[in-house]
Amino acid sequence: MKVFFVGAGPGNPDLLTLRAARLLENCRCCVYAGSLVSPEVLALLPASAETHDSASMTLEETTAVCKRASETETDVVRLHTGDPAIYGAIREQMAELDKLGIAYEVVPGISSFQASAAALKTELTAPEISQTIILTRTGGRTPMPEKQDLHSLARTESTLCIFLSVHKIEEIAETLAIYYGANCPAAVVYRASWPDQAVLEGSLSTIAKKVLEAKIGKTAMIVVGRALERTGIASKLYDANFSHGYRKGDE
Ligand code: SAH
Repeated sequence: MKVFFVGAGPGNPDLLTLRAARLLENCRCCVYAGSLVSPEVLALLPASAETHDSASMTLEETTAVCKRASETETDVVRLHTGDPAIYGAIREQMAELDKLGIAYEVVPGISSFQASAAALKTELTAPEISQTIILTRTGGRTPMPEKQDLHSLARTESTLCIFLSVHKIEEIAETLAIYYGANCPAAVVYRASWPDQAVLEGSLSTIAKKVLEAKIGKTAMIVVGRALERTGIASKLYDANFSHGYRKGDE
C-alpha cells in the first residue's frame, strides 16, 4: 500500500501525466484539494472511489484517511493542483506518514506557471535579459522570509512568476515598477488551461487596472519581466555560427 502525492496539473485533464491519469482511473481512495483541482480531472475517478475534499479537513483528518486505507491495503491518491512540490504542503503530510510507517511516492505535475507561460505563448528566459525564473508569492497567512521580500527579488530583474497574490496586484505592480520600469511587460493568467481561462497582458503601469476590471481575485498567475517582450537578442542555440559540438556550459 502506498500514498501517491499526485500533481493534477493546472486544470485541463489532457495536461495530466500518463502516470497521474492511470492512478486516477484505478483509484479507490482519493483526497483532493477541492478549491483548485478541476472537476474534469476529478471526473476520471471511478464512480466507486471513496473521495475526500481536503479543503474542509485538518492534517489529522487527511492522515486518518491514509491510516484507515493502509489497514485494508488500499492505495491513496493525494491529489494536488499543478505540481505537488510547489506550495503543496506535502512536507507535513509526509512527516505524518513517516510516523505511521506508511510508504509514499510523488508523481510530478505541470505547474500553473508553466501552463501560464504556454497560454501567454512566451519564453520565460531571454538571452542577456533574464536567465533566471523566480517562483514566489507575497506573504499571507504564511509570511515571507525577510530576505525574500519582493523588493529583494525584484532587484535581480529575473522573470517573476507570482503565485497566490493576484488580489494584491496594485501593490505588486507598484513595487516592481521601481526595479523593472513601469513599461515592463506584465501578465495575469486566470485559470490557465480551464475552459474559462483568461489572459490579461499589459505593462506594470496597466496590468492592475485590467485585473480589477476583469474582477480576477484568485486562481491566477502573475508573470512579470523583460523576457516577455517579443523583441530581443536571439538565443545562440540556433545561431548558424554556433557549433553544437563546442558549447561550453550550454546544452
Ligand atoms: N502546486 C500548484 C500551486 C498551488 S498554490 C502549482 O504548481 O501550480 C495556488 C496558486 O497557484 C493560485 O493562487 C494561483 O496563483 C496558482 N494557480 C493554480 N492553478 C492555476 C491555474 N490553472 N491558472 C493560473 N494560476 C493557477
